[in-house]
Amino acid sequence: MHNEIICRLEAVWRRTLRVDGPVPLHAPVFEGHEWEYVKDCLDTGWVSSVGAYVDRFEAMLADITGAHHAVATVNGSAALEVCLHLAGVGAGDDVVLPSLTFIATANAVSHLGASCRFVDVDEATLGLDPARLDDHLARHGDRPIKAVVVMHTFGHAADLDGLMQVCARHGVPLIEDAAESLGSYSGGRHTGTSGLLSALSFNGNKIVTTGGGGAVLTNDPDLARRAKHLTTTAKLSHPYRFDHDEVGWNYRLPNLNAALGCAQLEALPAYLGRKRRLASLYQEAFADLPGVKVVADRAGCAGNFWLNALILDRPDRDLVAQVIEGAAARGLQCRPIWTPMHRLPMYRYCPRDDLAVTEALEDRLINIPSSPSPVLDAVISAGAGL
Ligand SMILES: *Cc1c(COP(=O)(O)O)cnc(C)c1O
Repeated sequence: MHNEIICRLEAVWRRTLRVDGPVPLHAPVFEGHEWEYVKDCLDTGWVSSVGAYVDRFEAMLADITGAHHAVATVNGSAALEVCLHLAGVGAGDDVVLPSLTFIATANAVSHLGASCRFVDVDEATLGLDPARLDDHLARHGDRPIKAVVVMHTFGHAADLDGLMQVCARHGVPLIEDAAESLGSYSGGRHTGTSGLLSALSFNGNKIVTTGGGGAVLTNDPDLARRAKHLTTTAKLSHPYRFDHDEVGWNYRLPNLNAALGCAQLEALPAYLGRKRRLASLYQEAFADLPGVKVVADRAGCAGNFWLNALILDRPDRDLVAQVIEGAAARGLQCRPIWTPMHRLPMYRYCPRDDLAVTEALEDRLINIPSSPSPVLDAVISAGAGL
């Protein structure tokens, strides 16, 4: 079976896309104004925490996502921490999140002195299951739950309508970890604009990169102002005095990184088109293979296909390993999903529901090469694929 899978990955990359060399899981692409904007920072000396590119990057993010406000941060993990803090999460509080996520989601909770509670995901969305969340919030006992964090796995939106309703019913704020979902829509809304606050990431492996970077999105002007204040050491504006009115962070995105980000955001529509094209090449290549599917958009959603993924009909840890190792031997980089949080030593003892779906998905999902490579443009113009 693993040979059948690897053969189809090779057909896409070697035969259709004619790539001979190594095929990474996700490599950044710099083909626009990156050099120009970064050079501009060096030429002008505006490389650090102040500069016009930061403002421009934030304005571009607000424009792209439709969020009223975007505050750039040093990375996505920092953005998550600020979101949770602004939602009122602090020492001794509980936060609900999926166990099926990248470590940063859980660490943000821990760094604020709060505790994680893990609720299962829905196989159809790979995101938090609204029915399971409802059930959990209804019988969590006497410890108040300060926030719910939803994560849009691989760029596929969770059931935001369902989750929003449940959170509203229980009076708990919803935070979106939208680190993987820039360019992803659910019901016509950009992910990261439904919750009270959300976090984006621009790490080197994300759909667009600033080297390292992140952002907080919100529609609330007060929260946006607080986010900016807190991420810039809570300094009071003054020509030369250093006065600070609360314990803040130095989480501001440097101008140098923002410059890279501006050029990358200009290319986002092109990257989204390429990723969509790659996703349909994968769909075609795997259409006839029983036992495995390519994760697709759900009705009403338009994902960014940040990372394409294969999903096995049944959990098979050995097969996942065979595919990853066999593909690597042929120069194709694949990856398993993250080890679920509740299996890690720091989160093993956190309260959790039955996580049967999460545990099955751990041995069913394989991420496959997903770079927004320019070779995909040739496919578009040749009319191959769907
Ligand atoms: C990438 C990512 C983050 C944030 O990562 P940074 O590297 O800190 O920018 C957070 N959550 C998820 C789910 C991610 O994939």
